[in-house]
Amino acid sequence: TKVTEFIDQAAGNTLFSIEIIPPLKGQNINELLNSIEPLMEFKPPFVDVTYHREELIDRVGPNGLIERIPIRKRPGTVGICARLMERFHVDAVPHVICGGFTKDETEDVLIDLHYLGIDNVLVLRGDPEKSAGVFKAKTGGHTYASELVKQVSNMNQGILLNAETEMSPTNFCIGVAGYPEKHIDAASMDMDYEHLRKKVELGANYIVTQMFFDNKKYFQFVERCRAEGITVPIIPGLKPIATKKQLTVLAQIFHLEFPEELVSEVEKCASDKEVRQVGIEWGIQQCKELIDYGVPVLHFYTMGKSDNVAQIAKQVF
Ligand code: FAD
Repeated sequence: TKVTEFIDQAAGNTLFSIEIIPPLKGQNINELLNSIEPLMEFKPPFVDVTYHREELIDRVGPNGLIERIPIRKRPGTVGICARLMERFHVDAVPHVICGGFTKDETEDVLIDLHYLGIDNVLVLRGDPEKSAGVFKAKTGGHTYASELVKQVSNMNQGILLNAETEMSPTNFCIGVAGYPEKHIDAASMDMDYEHLRKKVELGANYIVTQMFFDNKKYFQFVERCRAEGITVPIIPGLKPIATKKQLTVLAQIFHLEFPEELVSEVEKCASDKEVRQVGIEWGIQQCKELIDYGVPVLHFYTMGKSDNVAQIAKQVF
């Protein structure tokens, strides 16, 4: 089932969904799946699984010298999607990224996903390599998510990159990312909206936002998107704050601002156990307001932890 169909079927009721991250290379998949089992009580119709590029890591080579080699630290997205669907009877939404992959490699992944019966993909550019700082496409790969959206749209029309065989069209529902607080690389908020609109024009069916802690940012984002003629559903991405360190870490990684009120609540806490509680309470308030606003889905970034998300969901669903 497509994400947009789930939203239509819900007829105005807000749905619950989550994102999970594949374990580090070779670690136990059951631990990850067990960790989200308590969240199945809230009936997520779909679960996102992130996708990860290679990172350059230093290794001692055969000649004793340090050499940099590319390693994918978190492979397994396609397999995890298959296990998710089998174990929890949910729809899996794999992410697909430009960075680190050629268009042909991505085409093969999309064919695998299609053969698995997967109906949705979240299409992203991917972050730059940590060592590089700026995003660089792999030779033969895409530079922007919009190009990958076009590739998936083409496959939905039965068009392959270098077709030697005729293709039976895919039917992917396409999600893309949106940034209520602007994407770091965008020259301006105006340009960011322009690029988001392009992704929708090329075939994106819905948007999932970067996490935010101030609902005002989301409301302004939705209003501006509507004014720009972007009419697709805009799903808020949410993460309850859980440690004091996250005030700086999340702000840096995701380029977002914490509201002063939340910062002062967190700073008053004597331990991270208390911060976790503040995060749950803040999350409940955020979610209640978002539901009143009529958001289609509350989409939680679990980052391997589900107890706080479960406590929020218990209060709002
Ligand atoms: P794009 O839409 O390509 O935009 C990237 C930047 O380029 C923006 O600043 C945009 O304004 C600009 N831009 C776009 N088009 C043009 C153009 N034609 N000319 C000039 N500038 C342009 N990363 C992963 O590696 N794996 C994941 O699974 C993953 N999941 C994510 C899920 C969500 C919901 C979100 C919000 C992010 C996720 N990310 C993931 C992170 C994401 O890959 C990064 O935020 C990345 O830096 C941008 O991706 P994008 O798809 O938004 O890129």
